[in-house]
Amino acid sequence: MRLTWRTATLLARRAETATAQTLVLEVAGWPGHLAGQHVDLRLTAPDGYQAVRSYSLAAPAAGDRIELTVQRVRGGEVSAYLTDGFAVGDAVELRGPAGAWFVWRPADPGPVLLVAGGAGIVPLMAMIRARRGRQTPFRLIYSVREPAEVFYPGELLQAPPVDRGLEAAFVYTRSAPPGFARAPARLAAADVADGGWPAAAEPSCFVCGPTGFVERAADLLVELGHDPRRVKTERFGPTGGAT
Ligand SMILES: Cc1cc2nc3c(=O)[nH]c(=O)nc-3n(C[C@H](O)[C@H](O)[C@H](O)COP(=O)(O)OP(=O)(O)OC[C@H]3O[C@@H](n4cnc5c(N)ncnc54)[C@H](O)[C@@H]3O)c2cc1C
Repeated sequence: MRLTWRTATLLARRAETATAQTLVLEVAGWPGHLAGQHVDLRLTAPDGYQAVRSYSLAAPAAGDRIELTVQRVRGGEVSAYLTDGFAVGDAVELRGPAGAWFVWRPADPGPVLLVAGGAGIVPLMAMIRARRGRQTPFRLIYSVREPAEVFYPGELLQAPPVDRGLEAAFVYTRSAPPGFARAPARLAAADVADGGWPAAAEPSCFVCGPTGFVERAADLLVELGHDPRRVKTERFGPTGGAT
């Protein structure tokens, strides 16, 4: 199916971290989407120059409202505008939803393992939110450089957890909170073994983040015996470019 460009208007924004913002957009005639899907967003400058980038949907569909969470990338053309210049009431072009492979449907059987690196939490958070009110066992392994970089802390860090049956394990790569047992380090086999499911449980695994992180995490899962056919990956490498 050919996707058409639609107008998306910014209704509200929420800071997730010092450099990441959740954007609440209204898209007239939005057809709905599945957790894990993404959209393409197109900016057009007054001289006609256009840039297109992909962004994951951060929450389940709610009528004509969608949510994206954008991490500002140093020197980034589109992410800098979306996190700094884009004001409530402004519009951009958007097409989607895209991606039929990296999706989780609430009727899918469990258990589920989510492995996120940095902004890779965004489509996985859509899955966590889509699961609410259900029993499907979920485990999340979330790798960030430092505690201040955790997205959605109100939902993922606070006790009691909003989501019963969701177990979250954090991996800090540069600095950890005071008293945190694990020393800061990159994701290792022990993190995946401790925070994930045993391969015998046959979880559906979703891995998302920067390309290097995704490759490492997927390799670790396979080394631990997980069937590669049950390991789905989404890479947040550079996308689009000028058109
Ligand atoms: C399917 C998909 C879903 C995505 N979902 C999200 C999302 O939910 N939230 C989000 O914040 N981003 C997401 N991204 C990344 C996003 O599409 C852009 O790549 C990112 O916002 C940077 O665009 P930019 O125009 O600001 O940077 P550019 O102007 O394109 O690049 C500026 C510099 O940053 C580097 N760079 C570009 N992208 C990245 C990156 N992702 N990580 C590190 N360095 C980079 C470039 O190599 C360049 O040196 C997703 C990407 C894909 C493919």
